[in-house]
Amino acid sequence: MRHIQRRIALLALPALVGSILVATGPAGADPTGPSAATSRSQPEDRESVRLVQIRLTGADMLDKVAAAGFDLEHGLRRVPTGIEGEAVVTAEQVTELTAMGVEVLADEAGFAWSDQADGGIAVDAAGARAVEPSNHQATVRIARADWFTTKGQGFLYVEARTTEGQQADPIVGMQVENDSGKGTPFGFARTMSRFVDSGQYMFHRNLFKLDTRPTRIQVTSSTGGVTTGVVSNWLENAPPPLTANPSYKSDFVDGYKHPQQLYSRAKEIARQYPDIAEIVYLPNQTNGYQRKAQAQLGGTGQAAVVVTSAAWGHEGGNDITVEFVDRPDANLPLAVEVTGKAVRVLLATDAAGAPASTATQVADALRTRSAGLIDRAHPYRTNEGSGIVAPTAGPVALTDFLDQKRVGAPEGEVPRGPATIPVLRIGKHRDGKKPGVLIQAQDHAREWVPATTSLESAERLVHNYRSDRETKKIVENTDIFFILSNNPDGANYSFYNFASQRKNMTNHCPDASADPAQRNSWGVDLNRNYRVGSGHDGYAGGSTNCVSGTYQGPEELSEPESKNIIWLVEKYSNIKFMMSVHSNGGQLFWQPGAYIADGRITTPRPPLGDEAFYWQSAARILSQVKAHRETVVTPENVGGSSDVLYSSAGNVREDLYYTYGIYAFGWEVGGSVYNPATGNWQGGSFQPEWTGNPELVSGHAETMEYANGIMEMFRVAADWGKDKKDPTSRLVPGDGKYRGPVDVRFETSEPATIYYTTDGSRPTLESPRYAATEFREPGQVFHVTETTTFRWFSVDSAGNIEKNYDPTKTDKRNNYRTATITIAKK
Ligand SMILES: [Zn+2]
Repeated sequence: MRHIQRRIALLALPALVGSILVATGPAGADPTGPSAATSRSQPEDRESVRLVQIRLTGADMLDKVAAAGFDLEHGLRRVPTGIEGEAVVTAEQVTELTAMGVEVLADEAGFAWSDQADGGIAVDAAGARAVEPSNHQATVRIARADWFTTKGQGFLYVEARTTEGQQADPIVGMQVENDSGKGTPFGFARTMSRFVDSGQYMFHRNLFKLDTRPTRIQVTSSTGGVTTGVVSNWLENAPPPLTANPSYKSDFVDGYKHPQQLYSRAKEIARQYPDIAEIVYLPNQTNGYQRKAQAQLGGTGQAAVVVTSAAWGHEGGNDITVEFVDRPDANLPLAVEVTGKAVRVLLATDAAGAPASTATQVADALRTRSAGLIDRAHPYRTNEGSGIVAPTAGPVALTDFLDQKRVGAPEGEVPRGPATIPVLRIGKHRDGKKPGVLIQAQDHAREWVPATTSLESAERLVHNYRSDRETKKIVENTDIFFILSNNPDGANYSFYNFASQRKNMTNHCPDASADPAQRNSWGVDLNRNYRVGSGHDGYAGGSTNCVSGTYQGPEELSEPESKNIIWLVEKYSNIKFMMSVHSNGGQLFWQPGAYIADGRITTPRPPLGDEAFYWQSAARILSQVKAHRETVVTPENVGGSSDVLYSSAGNVREDLYYTYGIYAFGWEVGGSVYNPATGNWQGGSFQPEWTGNPELVSGHAETMEYANGIMEMFRVAADWGKDKKDPTSRLVPGDGKYRGPVDVRFETSEPATIYYTTDGSRPTLESPRYAATEFREPGQVFHVTETTTFRWFSVDSAGNIEKNYDPTKTDKRNNYRTATITIAKK
């Protein structure tokens, strides 16, 4: 109970305390309005579509381009000059992108920071640093200084802020220097990259290639601030993975799996291991791998007519033919004849005997007089339909286009119609008492590796349960729910018809976007269809355009696939962890994941205890990913998803965390592997060759390494469930007499959130929460200028409260913590 109450309190903003707080926030943002959604043309057929590497100047441009309907989600990563990624486009769209200011990069070059340098540039005796002496001393703070190695190469990642960062004229420069080990001097000054998002200064940051691990860095601002910091390890010296046990079984998945294969294996596992596994069926069937049958008659001009069957293609729509018939006599009225599934439109004639029906008239007649066979008929796109319809050469067959297999499609037929999604539940004690973990894969249809990664994790659990002690502990202490593909209709479409399909197959489009050439762009982005921080509430990153890659749907939870997730977490309220598995990009996310673009107002930042717990869990999970083949997910790709990538309005993670208090992770598996041969980071793809190059891009290698990470997430959940230990905390420096103003901060024994007062009142869950100085930074520092008593308690990530204090009731013991900072009078 305490746990839930705490999460509700999370949404309340802490009040400011007296005169003792140091203001730490950056200056006001330069507001940038959200861009309006506009309709645009989409790829007309799969043959002409290709994948290109693009670079955008920032999130504003990303929003604009996405709102225009371009499909460029995923594979995106921040670079010093903006955002780089991939776009699935036609040659014509490349021209449009260029016109919007998007840089289309040559080839599929690997990613590299532009100012990456081996060893860096030494500062010369004259002092090459661009630091002006200034009376105005800016404050510089180091948020991260992380060292990691991968494939024999060392890297230093630095993230630092200046309080003058928002300043635009002149733009503040920042430089970082590092030592070369303990006791060595600073040197190798390098310019840092300023990171601005939605008009808001975020921080400066860089990734540097280094051969020697530094112990300290020094960051200097051009406005005069300077600070030093200690370098930490990132994913170094991780404990051995479960696969290190020689008897441990792994490598079960032998190739990509379409939804039928995934679901049938899930059911088989439940049959083979009934003591630890079962199937839970989600209640809402999908809208189905199915389409209405269509034909577009008369080209694309004013005389064109787009016809759509009332029945699904496989339920008779595909048997319908439509014919426009010319008749020899003059002054005949428009008529429609229906024989079986054959619809003949007898065109009206004028006084000279020539055809005289407009496209609008023919469409109206088809809709109302086809004996129910045609329920949608209209002019092409935004045409008025004023052209005179020409007769057809004969009957034209309608089709749902689903029998057009793409090259390389798997054998067999796809079952048409709605699908029921099975959830594979694994756990020895499935009684709601063990912490539940939801692994949700393939919201996005073309992301094939998330499905194999999840299946591999399930296989490892059931095969090692009896033989491996660590696996047994997982199965006995957690309650795991696998949704191996949450978008089976779209996934089938990706396997069988259009490999780049992202969304589900529900067509919510109006007539202007409902012609068959648009069919590869219909559907709802399931990860924009949720209720918290949604596009409907004004958050950025969800589109109202039904053919956009990020179309959010007509309303929140409009789709059965998203309704199912809410049903599942409400029915199984023991679910406390979730991982939404996507590809590709090499990122691990949590909250905040969405913001309102104007002012860059994010969903509420998690309290410091949750933030620290997320970081701690991420380091555990990613260490195990690294253990497989040294893939490093770099720290600049870890954190709140709207901080490290972009705003995704209405994503599932925001809903599950803010509504249900579930630790909701998202990750982008695959991609971003360091290639020592080129010295660059090489991006991945949605469907990398299964075996491919095992050291670089390989669906198999990604499946194995990220399954390591999922297994570690289960261990995180098991440990969380067993955590009955209260956190401890202290004020540093603590109780005592000080001769002048003193800076104090809180420390905790483990990830925990502190609630405190300084006004003599009893601390409760409504008291101010100890916060980060600024996001991605450690806890704030209080500048205490007069005698102050702090009263506080801490709560850990499992909900344990320090000293078993009960903040909800009047607790006569009053066993919260106190410390008095006494400042001597002058
Ligand atoms: Zn995705």
